[in-house]
Amino acid sequence: MRKVTTRAFAVLLLAALVVMGMGVYLFRLVRDGGDWASFYANDSVYTRGVLNRGSVTDRKGVVLAAAGEDAFHYADDATVRRACLHVVGDLDGNIGTSILSVFRPKFINYSFFTGTTTKGGSMQLTIDADISAAAYNALSGRKGTVLVYNYQTGEILCMVSTPGWDPEQGVNFDLNDPNYEGAFINRAISSVFTPGSVFKLVTMAAAIENIPDIFQQTFTCSGSAIIGGQKIVCSGHHGTLTVDEGLACSCNIVFGEVGRQLGGVRISQYAEKYGLTSAHTLNSEITTAAGSVPAAPGDGDAAWAGIGQYEDLINPYAFLRLMGAIANGGTAVEPTILAGKSGGSEKLMEPTTAQKLSEMMSFNVQYEYGSWAYPGLDMHAKTGTAEVGNGSTHAWFAGFITNKPLAFVVMAERAGGGYAVASPIANTVLQKAVSVLD
Ligand SMILES: [Zn+2]
Repeated sequence: MRKVTTRAFAVLLLAALVVMGMGVYLFRLVRDGGDWASFYANDSVYTRGVLNRGSVTDRKGVVLAAAGEDAFHYADDATVRRACLHVVGDLDGNIGTSILSVFRPKFINYSFFTGTTTKGGSMQLTIDADISAAAYNALSGRKGTVLVYNYQTGEILCMVSTPGWDPEQGVNFDLNDPNYEGAFINRAISSVFTPGSVFKLVTMAAAIENIPDIFQQTFTCSGSAIIGGQKIVCSGHHGTLTVDEGLACSCNIVFGEVGRQLGGVRISQYAEKYGLTSAHTLNSEITTAAGSVPAAPGDGDAAWAGIGQYEDLINPYAFLRLMGAIANGGTAVEPTILAGKSGGSEKLMEPTTAQKLSEMMSFNVQYEYGSWAYPGLDMHAKTGTAEVGNGSTHAWFAGFITNKPLAFVVMAERAGGGYAVASPIANTVLQKAVSVLD
């Protein structure tokens, strides 16, 4: 009798293990089926190692990548291929945040119920091939990124990262060549940079909400000042000026002083509140790099933090969201890169704060940059020239226009001054955008 009981127990145990094993398999099939189906060894979706199904098009239907009979092809236009490389990706999966890497199961049209089909998935992006090509040309061989999105719908029209290469040619360069440094990285998504003076918009927003007499104060710039024991140097001798004028001419003495008044903790809190220190998720799948704005401990460091130096680091995509929020009355519409998808929105600031910042960004153009530099555009913007050591600077220009609801960020890495280098790139790209959008 005892023997029978032991055997029955053993059989039951075996049966339980089989059921558990099936459960684990089913769970993994549901969770990972798409990855399994898109695995390179799955002969049905690859012909001699080449993906044989699916296509990616831009917002107007221009083919950015498509499988053919026996080969896989990218856009016909060589500039479009390079301009859209980091968004679309290459088949070798070198760009981890690209459509071809992240949405591969969707691209090959994998379904849990039907498996793969011969048709393949066609994916339409919000990206505009012409605007992207204009941005690629305007970057003109510099490393950097250009982002443009519709701050009302969230559609990303342009997300160019350089350096890149022609995906039709494959990776035919030396990975150690400094000209191709970070070529596999989408700088808009996966990188963080010292912001320099574009960060003064964050400091300004904190000042609007926390320093009651900020618009009654006057500041004096004689080219340099000692704040909290540290020497802050300005690029000009601006004399006596208000905070509006200080933002327009990007006076470091004014914003060093505003940073001191706010303190490092508050500046850090505002960067966090505005989403600059967290990772974001584009279309539920593409995760951005989180910036960092640590709370500067003393007055001197707070002054540097307030002018976007100290240890401040921001991600271009996160900054684009913030520009969108200012343009959109304080609420950031989440960007999307897939046509027909929307990702919700998040209120970043009070409408009154957004309105004041918007007026000041327009004043920057009227008072300092010159509206002649952006013919026909209702430009609201801020320059940035971020010091990154050895005398080199990142050139930034960020803001929005209202002709069409477009927010933008231009960042040219170690490429010079924000006004000299990044501002003309923004103008070129936005002129193109306004001309192609109906
Ligand atoms: Zn100054």
